[in-house]
Amino acid sequence: MVEPVHAVTIIGSGPAGYTAAIYAARANLKPVVYAGGPSLDEPARVPGGQLMITTDVENYPGFPEAVTGPELMERFKAQAERFGTVIHMENVTKVDLSARPFSLWDESGRTMKTRSLIIATGASAKWLNVPGEAEYANRGVSACATCDGAFFKGEDVFVVGGGDTAMEEATYLAKIVNKVILLHRRDQFRASKIMQHRVLANPKISVVWNTVVEEVVGDGKRVTGARVRNCKTGEVMTLSAGGLFVAIGHKPNSQLFDDFLETNETGYIKTVPGSTRTSEEGVFACGDVQDSVYRQAVTAAGTGCMAAMEAERFLVEHGE
Ligand code: NAP
Repeated sequence: MVEPVHAVTIIGSGPAGYTAAIYAARANLKPVVYAGGPSLDEPARVPGGQLMITTDVENYPGFPEAVTGPELMERFKAQAERFGTVIHMENVTKVDLSARPFSLWDESGRTMKTRSLIIATGASAKWLNVPGEAEYANRGVSACATCDGAFFKGEDVFVVGGGDTAMEEATYLAKIVNKVILLHRRDQFRASKIMQHRVLANPKISVVWNTVVEEVVGDGKRVTGARVRNCKTGEVMTLSAGGLFVAIGHKPNSQLFDDFLETNETGYIKTVPGSTRTSEEGVFACGDVQDSVYRQAVTAAGTGCMAAMEAERFLVEHGE
């Protein structure tokens, strides 16, 4: 099935993608959004980006009482649709950015041609890559407390990491589980002071410093604990818990574009400073797929706006 040539196609449906869609739709560019969805590689993936697995968002301007991540994304989506954005709830499986108009292929077998492309594919959770982690995925191992926390009512669980995500996961889980054991590889957190304070003041959370997970252990059916090593003393021991939540950061979802766009050493798409322009004319990148520094919903939305305005300018300059 070959579709007509679109002016702007946006891949991704987090704050960056939907903000780009709102601006492009209001500029009458009739944008098409590929919102993503479950895939063979990531069966648990949901459209809407990382906010879909976040609880309260307290730092998005305009919501003084906080808003849940999923509700915020529902509002983004509704606003994009209000101005005529066409949304496909599926993944793009292949792109060809070597010639304009660019070509995209999706899971329905559609071939899409687009004069400009906005990449807003975000970032995904990183895993520890230790023995037992993959084996016990969804059987005690998780990267999403809001998705899976309820399965661990009354149990003890580990959270691994020392950033804001780990603090958020630990605080959330402490409301549900018996005890949270926070394992961090250094003797201080990377997280913001306010989130650290919440964790350190919570009697249901205990922190095990200078500690890395060497193996996730289980009884063949579910997680029963973790073999951990103290990085300072070298001491190895096995701690018991029924769940292990990995909260050690994210990697950019840029693999689809590897053959066409310049990325940095960790895979973030390179953009011209102060813009969303990539190494390929007519292709713009916004949000976490190009931002390893700020990674906030509000900064992602800001760059989504920039991408739409730059795509519009590009189309005008090329008489399209
Ligand atoms: P992050 O800030 O990069 O922190 C990752 C943490 O995991 C670090 O403490 C790191 O240890 C640890 N880590 C990384 N690889 C590890 C490994 N292989 N084994 C063990 N530990 C490992 O990531 P994040 O916490 O996901 O936060 C990302 C961004 O989102 C930040 O800008 C954050 O402020 C923001 N965020 C904000 C909120 C909020 O405001 N509500 C919530 C979540 C995230 P080291 O410290 O030793 O490097």
